[in-house]
Amino acid sequence: MIKNWKRALAAGVILLVGIAAALFLTEENNVTTKTVFAMDTYMELTAYGRNAEEAIAAAEEEIHRLDQLLSTGNTDSEVAIWNRDKTGVLTEDTEYLIERSIQLWEETAGAFDITIYPVMRAWGFVNKAYRVPTEEELRTLLLYVDSSLITIQEEKNLTIPQQVEIDFGGIAKGYASMRVAQIMKEYGIRSAKLNLGGNVQTVGMKPDGSKWRIAIKSPKASLPYLGIVSIGEAAVITSGGYERYFEENGQIYHHIIDPATGKPAKSGLASVTIVCEDGTLADGLSTSLYVMGKEESIAYWRAHSEEFDVILYDENGNLYVTEGLQDAFTSKLPYEIIKRN
Ligand code: AMP
Ligand code: MG
Repeated sequence: MIKNWKRALAAGVILLVGIAAALFLTEENNVTTKTVFAMDTYMELTAYGRNAEEAIAAAEEEIHRLDQLLSTGNTDSEVAIWNRDKTGVLTEDTEYLIERSIQLWEETAGAFDITIYPVMRAWGFVNKAYRVPTEEELRTLLLYVDSSLITIQEEKNLTIPQQVEIDFGGIAKGYASMRVAQIMKEYGIRSAKLNLGGNVQTVGMKPDGSKWRIAIKSPKASLPYLGIVSIGEAAVITSGGYERYFEENGQIYHHIIDPATGKPAKSGLASVTIVCEDGTLADGLSTSLYVMGKEESIAYWRAHSEEFDVILYDENGNLYVTEGLQDAFTSKLPYEIIKRN
């Protein structure tokens, strides 16, 4: 009798272990990867688990929807229509983005400013007709680079003065990665890696429960990456002048503009990588800190160290990593840990 009981228990345990292993293997083995071209870049979306295929399809649809909505280059986009008509009704996505952008403008003392678009155009970044604007031209344009000129009235009505134009280029990809991560969760995905043109957003842990290892983009062709961060669920977003630029008379002019001068930011930094849970914030901050430069960036981080961590690489090849990444970051390069105080 006892013998039978023990045998049944053993069989039960074996069965349960078998089911668990099978589930684990299905979770790990069922992987869907898709390359999508949107927002001017190649994106690679990878999801694991039972609904991976459906989740990736929904993610792709969402990315194209946001591209349509937010791209200044698309004449039918919500943003292009505001820029043309100087008024518009905010939808859920653009209301969120406008709020976050204005909040960042305030918190970064204007380093992040979505009203930068006329200056982007003056430098030719909008249509690839690159040129160096005159000081006079920039001075005139800068009068209207000012996010306080955006007004939102009741019923979500946005209005901007005639000279103001909006550009979500510094924050849209981070928002898209955040939205895609939300979609993954709606589909019950517990493990995904979303690479939007080198900006990575992860969901959960790797299928085997270990951390993701994300290579940090390097501004130098001779250096494949700056280091590796090991993370759970987070966004890892990099800004660098090397990503879009033109050369004239031996000078490099890149696409991250200092709203104080109207010129490509010359802060001494070559790249800024933000690691944080909030993809929208990570993207906005990578652009902002690039404009601020090392000292200001460190001061900003110290005031907000609960929200994000940062990896700074300067033009002289010095690498700085904030304290929160101390155990997560590895590199073959020497680097300095920035302490909270
Ligand atoms: P990112 O690659 O995220 O740093 O974004 C760069 C893009 O953000 C540029 O191509 C512009 O569309 C836009 N941008 C440039 N300078 C600024 C700025 N100071 N504040 C907000 N957006 C900016
Ligand atoms: Mg950005």
